[in-house]
Amino acid sequence: MGHIPENDAIQRRIRAMTDRVETGRALNFYFYNLPITELHGGARVVVNGREMGMFASYSYLGLIGHPKINVAAKDAIDKFGTGTHGVRTLAGSLTIHQELEETISEFKQTEAAITFSSGYVTNLSVVSTMVSRGDYVICDKLNHASIVDGCIMSGAKFLRFRHNDMVALEERLSQAESSAAKLVIVDAVFSMDGDIIDLPRVVELCKKYGAWLMVDEAHSIGVLGKSGRGIEEHFNLPGVIDLKMGTLSKTIPSIGGYIAGKSDLINFLRHVSRAYIFSAALPPAQAAASKAAFRLIINEPWRVEKLKENATQFIKGLRQRGFDTMLSQTAIVPVLCGEDETAYIMTRGAHEHDVFVLPVVSPAVPPGLARLRATVTAAHEPGQIEDAMNILEKVGKTVGVLK
Ligand code: PMP
Repeated sequence: MGHIPENDAIQRRIRAMTDRVETGRALNFYFYNLPITELHGGARVVVNGREMGMFASYSYLGLIGHPKINVAAKDAIDKFGTGTHGVRTLAGSLTIHQELEETISEFKQTEAAITFSSGYVTNLSVVSTMVSRGDYVICDKLNHASIVDGCIMSGAKFLRFRHNDMVALEERLSQAESSAAKLVIVDAVFSMDGDIIDLPRVVELCKKYGAWLMVDEAHSIGVLGKSGRGIEEHFNLPGVIDLKMGTLSKTIPSIGGYIAGKSDLINFLRHVSRAYIFSAALPPAQAAASKAAFRLIINEPWRVEKLKENATQFIKGLRQRGFDTMLSQTAIVPVLCGEDETAYIMTRGAHEHDVFVLPVVSPAVPPGLARLRATVTAAHEPGQIEDAMNILEKVGKTVGVLK
């Protein structure tokens, strides 16, 4: 890059990040992108040659590595190969894509569903397809980055409301011109805090103001509701969400994203959303793995029940030990540490005792609210959760997070 001036703005940004990462590494505070070398069941992994309890997984129902899912993926490779022939609209659509979309719409109890190559891409493309200049898009302040990026890309007027505050949502809805199209977007379960959106009130307000409702269920599929179908089941409000968005990369151990909804809406997205028209389809193995995983959630309902028991044990146990787990009600359990450095020291201590958790620091969360972002899954046994909490307690006392 010798032709670039030393003080060029891009150079400065690259240097600032390089410095931050190098300083973190020098202090032994850099825990990101650590390679997992082996999966030992759902609850244990080998990281950098060291076997640890896995408390940072999104595989909420412990389905990663399930033999039936692995077989489905291998069979799809034998049948279709490893890629597709191009974008879905032209030569890339396979029967396994249609089967997966039918499975999703059945699971989400909608008329139809459409899949994309990742959850991030789904939000980016769908939000910017649904709204544009002259429309309003209204978001909870803690919505996922992929939603925020979709809103910015859309060109619609972008309004945000205080987290899970329904008075603030109504204020925003009443600010929008009454004749303009309005789309409200919320996460079902918030990815950094583990709390649940007040769906009944959001639905009432969307009805009152004639707004569409989109809900990101990345962390609620398999987690909320008696049979793990998500937030509508949790609140017993079937069919109230217009666009049910989800990922195939968390409870579903694959890759991809989807929207489930009415047939005409899905048909519209299939012919207008640019990530569907201009980007290649999901690989056959990943589509088949996803389909098999949805079937397993239905056929092995004990997983959803066990996840709830494990989450309750984890949240309760951490609180009893004196930790602040913020507003978590789900399998995502923040363990508040305060300053970034405290979260790093806690993480290092946990790893030294073979508990794999990761820190979330600013700017991902506000300064002073750095935390461990711990998760439990249905793959954990109560004894493993107890052992991990005892270790966190020991480390928390050493670091000063606990008195
Ligand atoms: N929405 C939420 C709420 C998420 O947490 C994530 C992933 N962290 C995404 C969307 C993006 O999903 P994916 O990783 O499948 O691209």
